[in-house]
Amino acid sequence: MDADVIIAGAGPAGLMLAGELCLAGVRPLVLERQPRLREIPKANGFNGLIVELLRYRGLLDRVEAASGRPVLPAPAAPFGGVHLDFSHLADPPLRAVHLPQSRLERLLSERAGELGACIRRGHEVTGLSQGDATVTAGVRGPDGPYRVTARYLAGCDGARSRVREAAGIPFPGTTYPEVNRLAEASVRDPVTRLDNGELDVPGLGRIRAGFTRTDRGVFGFGSLASGVLLIQTTEDEPAGVDDDAPMTLTEFSGSIRRVLGADLPLADVTRLSRYGFAARQAERYRDGRILLAGDAAHQFPATGIGINVGMLDAVNLAWKLAAAIAGWAPPGLLDTYHHERHFAGARALLQTQAQVALRRGQDPAAQALRDLFTELLADEQPARRLGALIAGTSIRYPMPGSHQHALAGTFAPDLTLHTSQGPTSVAELMHTARPIFLDLAGRSDLRETAREWQPRVDVRSAETDQRPADALLIRPDARIAWAAATGEPAGTAEPTLREALSYWFGPKLPLR
Ligand SMILES: Cc1cc2nc3c(=O)[nH]c(=O)nc-3n(C[C@H](O)[C@H](O)[C@H](O)COP(=O)(O)OP(=O)(O)OC[C@H]3O[C@@H](n4cnc5c(N)ncnc54)[C@H](O)[C@@H]3O)c2cc1C
Repeated sequence: MDADVIIAGAGPAGLMLAGELCLAGVRPLVLERQPRLREIPKANGFNGLIVELLRYRGLLDRVEAASGRPVLPAPAAPFGGVHLDFSHLADPPLRAVHLPQSRLERLLSERAGELGACIRRGHEVTGLSQGDATVTAGVRGPDGPYRVTARYLAGCDGARSRVREAAGIPFPGTTYPEVNRLAEASVRDPVTRLDNGELDVPGLGRIRAGFTRTDRGVFGFGSLASGVLLIQTTEDEPAGVDDDAPMTLTEFSGSIRRVLGADLPLADVTRLSRYGFAARQAERYRDGRILLAGDAAHQFPATGIGINVGMLDAVNLAWKLAAAIAGWAPPGLLDTYHHERHFAGARALLQTQAQVALRRGQDPAAQALRDLFTELLADEQPARRLGALIAGTSIRYPMPGSHQHALAGTFAPDLTLHTSQGPTSVAELMHTARPIFLDLAGRSDLRETAREWQPRVDVRSAETDQRPADALLIRPDARIAWAAATGEPAGTAEPTLREALSYWFGPKLPLR
């Protein structure tokens, strides 16, 4: 056996999975086909629940240092051509990180390496076979082909996943003809940038910042904090595109000419990239010893979604894989990865496909839909609801058992905790990614029960100012597996706590 887990692909999902596996005591082998860290620009940032999770792992300082900007609540977000305004909300539902994907990958790569992951760049997974106890990958490396064998293999190898194909997992859905091209640049003579932010294009006239719809597509531009312009075109091209193939300036200039009907000479061009849109989801996220995460498992037809959902897949999968490798995973634990994350992916598909319907139509009826949506979103409740859907914070995983507390399946709130060792918080306790039984009401009966699962589960006592429950059982991915209602009489919660502990962490451990 060469490794416990092989991870194909060192994008955000694969690198996050590598770090989380290391925290859970498993040393993964990451195989990445590119010889160096990513050069083709993809995401310029990300948002959503993963920002909270990174904070819960104590990584937000590093993220902010790499970004050079603090992580702040997003005052607005685009939604299918409609502008979602959160600026009037006291606590906006989204927090945005401005960090180019290449720098995110460098950060995650360094972190996974520090924790003990082995990352081989320039090693492409070319084929797979699995048996009852192992999975073997064929690899093409700098010194030629070789094979590696592990207990499990995670396909984090992007939308065109070789792993998914080799495992025979269908990837149904729709590829939209829309192709977006973008670049950061400044404009050259004879185009002028006016003081009011407009562009004056000879032969065409003035173009306002934002989006301009023409017969051939959409042209958009805006000024970044650095003063440089972010310029984008959107056209329909039935042939589709490969996001991973580099884009040239000639291709971008040609697209601008087609959409605007005029040339737009550019200078200081950086970050040339292109992306298409598809709505696809793998039918299964697991096939025996092969698992899929990130874009290999789903593609969304809107920006700003993929990193959040993909890295959250990784966080959900890691501790379950580690439990299977350590030998204590209860039956069905690994399958909950598919159930929970396929459900989360389907919710993300729902909102991103709705965005397609909102942005694509050019006729008056489509514009009326956008106008009506804009009116509705001026109200706080729908704006919050949509914000939570984008962030993924409204996802509540279905939990086993009949009488579930309302918190079960939700992301654990970051309570401020007062303990005998001093103040702490749920976020701080989650740095090590360990499961925690948290007694918030001096419930020695429940603490004694939870201790039967030590050392698999940490048992903590604390007081908190606004107690949402008498006790919480929190999984390594910061999801609440079980909660005791406040003021519940002694004896009533214990059987359901035992059930939850056995369901997630296996049979209780023999007394030592
Ligand atoms: C132009 C553009 C802009 C985007 N903007 C945003 C944004 O603002 N916010 C956002 O959240 N998302 C954005 N996205 C989407 C985001 O980039 C993806 O969702 C994200 O990269 C998915 O991460 P991943 O780790 O699943 O896959 P990927 O990032 O695709 O990583 C897969 C890795 O696997 C490697 N690989 C592939 N095949 C093999 C193989 N056979 N063997 C070994 N290695 C292999 C690849 O080289 C790659 O490094 C954007 C995408 C594009 C193209």
